[in-house]
Amino acid sequence: MKVLVTGGMGYIGSHTCVQMIEAGLEPVILDNLCNSKEAVLERINQLTGKTPVFYQGDIRDREILDQIFSEQSIDSVIHFAGLKAVGESVEKPLEYYDNNVHGTLMLVDAMKSAGVNSLVFSSSATVYGDPAEVPINENTPTGNVTNPYGRSKYMVEECLRDIQYAAPEMSITLLRYFNPVGAHPSGTMGEDPQGIPNNLMPFIAQVAVGRREFLSVFGNDYPTPDGTGVRDYIHVMDLADGHIAALNAVGKKDGLHIFNLGTGKGSSVLEMVDAFSDACGHDIAYKLCPRRPGDIAECWADTSKATKELNWEAKFDVKAMAADTWRWQSANPKGY
Ligand code: NAD
Ligand code: UDP
Repeated sequence: MKVLVTGGMGYIGSHTCVQMIEAGLEPVILDNLCNSKEAVLERINQLTGKTPVFYQGDIRDREILDQIFSEQSIDSVIHFAGLKAVGESVEKPLEYYDNNVHGTLMLVDAMKSAGVNSLVFSSSATVYGDPAEVPINENTPTGNVTNPYGRSKYMVEECLRDIQYAAPEMSITLLRYFNPVGAHPSGTMGEDPQGIPNNLMPFIAQVAVGRREFLSVFGNDYPTPDGTGVRDYIHVMDLADGHIAALNAVGKKDGLHIFNLGTGKGSSVLEMVDAFSDACGHDIAYKLCPRRPGDIAECWADTSKATKELNWEAKFDVKAMAADTWRWQSANPKGY
């Protein structure tokens, strides 16, 4: 089965391509490399012995989309491509709506012209905003989002809902990721943020390897057991497998399918710092700082729907997430 993977050179897309190849699927990548490097292709080859067909281009370029659909017989699309930095989205909302919302509409329009009916979309737990209670299940209200990035994900979800309603033959799956972290266990592939990392795990990893002096812990006065924010961290390998499980279970089943992909377990910032110290064998310097605007206290998934309907469950714990991140970061201190 051939699957177009937009954003397949990025963090989650690259790990998903590896797992797809291992599962006998054939990924075809479309990526404009705005947040990734071509070296990723060699790493995929090192791990799997295969190099996916790669088109360097933009999801907003109708010509390249039509070219791919005519040259490759694509069965399904996994759509990772997009911009993802919350802070940057506040500064550059136009770019975020253009890339994430307009880009997705261009992609779906080209899919429809080519008669490709199966789409898996990278959504985010951010669509739940600040939920009234945890754990969060798929029926928890969405839309109470606080920044343009989150709003772009919410808007795409709503557009896809309408598109699927009008084209009932389509299978559209919204995967709401919790907090993806970790790296390929080989240490060959991992997250390679450009500039100062926005997210906790890559920041801790850069402190551990000496690229940054200390971690700023954003808030220790939340109503959580140790006062720091609690999130549902999910290993990127589990997340990658979740996409394959979704393709297998519902990729050919018409309808709008929505799943949380998390572990169902929350960990605090300080628990993540401890797990990382254990993995790298030394302390991680940190300073307690004020809360980061827009952050919520706690967030973790009710994963029972994915377990039941996708026959998928996260396997890796925080210890493995830290160990694998450290293996990647220490072998590739400057990334790819
Ligand atoms: P990433 O930036 O590593 O990967 C995205 C890839 O898409 C990059 O390789 C980039 O070059 C490419 N890209 C961006 N805009 C493009 C365009 N217009 N045309 C073609 N290629 C384009 O990000 P990631 O962490 O792998 O995230 C993948 C998806 O998952 C994104 O849609 C993101 O919003 C979503 N998501 C990520 C997280 C997270 O914490 N990493 C959480 C929830 C959801
Ligand atoms: N966080 C932190 N310092 C950082 C980055 C993040 O203390 O440099 C905290 C943040 O406040 C939140 C948790 O780590 O409680 C996860 O943040 P991240 O940005 O990774 O994910 P998200 O906010 O999207 O859940």
